[in-house]
Amino acid sequence: MIDNRIMKDYLKKTLSEKRYIHSENAAISAEQLANLYGADSQKAYVSALLHDCTREMDMELQHKMMLSLNTQVDELTYGIKELLHAHTAEYIIRNQFNIMDEEIISAVRFHTTGKEDMTLLEKIVFLADVVEPSRSFPGVEYIRQLAMDDIDGAVLAALDSSIKFLLGKRSLVHPNTFYARNYILKHITE
Ligand code: FE
Ligand code: FE
Repeated sequence: MIDNRIMKDYLKKTLSEKRYIHSENAAISAEQLANLYGADSQKAYVSALLHDCTREMDMELQHKMMLSLNTQVDELTYGIKELLHAHTAEYIIRNQFNIMDEEIISAVRFHTTGKEDMTLLEKIVFLADVVEPSRSFPGVEYIRQLAMDDIDGAVLAALDSSIKFLLGKRSLVHPNTFYARNYILKHITE
């Protein structure tokens, strides 16, 4: 697999310092979670390191990237940077770093919204984005603690927190976030 330094150098050039630190932190958190839950720690590290690699690219460029990917996105995702970057990251992952690992690409693709029936790696990257040490929002400490011994409970708490946050600012909520939340809630209570 590709040298982490090459990816970090690229991210340093394309991200703000704050988001670069967030990415490095998320990678370390993802690696720790992978070790804790028995997932592939290198895949977790790389997925989380690259999860926001297109977050600061303008939409025009991201729309061009979508043209050359086989993945389709819905209209809601296409129009919102906060959602679209999770999908356009695939372009950089494949073309800039030559990583064709579908598990990594999928973990990055669903890091923002989650989805129904997430894999362990998808849950880890989703959570690492939320709990990495530089994140601070009401309730983060609770999710951070929960992430250490109940990954499904932590993903559920993170989804709830995300939905509440979005409702609070009257933002659109992607349906996958509800699907993810309902699926995991049903799974936990069964
Ligand atoms: Fe993101
Ligand atoms: Fe992020």
